[in-house]
Amino acid sequence: MMEEGCIFCKIIAGKIPGDILHSDDRVVAFRDISPQAPTHVLVMPRQHIPAVTDVGEQQGELMGHLFQVANDLARKEGIAERGFRLAVNCGEEGGQYVPHLHFHLIGGRRLSDELG
Ligand code: 5GP
Ligand code: ZN
Repeated sequence: MMEEGCIFCKIIAGKIPGDILHSDDRVVAFRDISPQAPTHVLVMPRQHIPAVTDVGEQQGELMGHLFQVANDLARKEGIAERGFRLAVNCGEEGGQYVPHLHFHLIGGRRLSDELG
């Protein structure tokens, strides 16, 4: 289900370009256009789920798959051993700018100890 006006839905649908690293029937991952570290990948469901606040028990399997894809990508990017951050912003004060649920997979340098 593509949401009108959603930039990530457009990338998932191939309507605008993205540096896609993973694509399957449920999950897509592509590089962030404005990377904050040597590895900065966005991992998200194909389905337009707006935010963490829309996730419940029903999305359990999908969430498990998102973690599995993020883990796979961390290994492929060579950051699994060194460590990385998997972050999800939610809402205005949480710094979420694109309202299509996504994990930020960030690594390849020593990250700040501060989370916010
Ligand atoms: P948020 O702040 O919503 O958690 O994260 C949105 C992320 O999407 C930001 O890190 C931003 O750089 C990235 N982003 C925004 N527009 C685009 C785009 O058109 N393509 C890609 N690849 N990333 C984008
Ligand atoms: Zn969307």
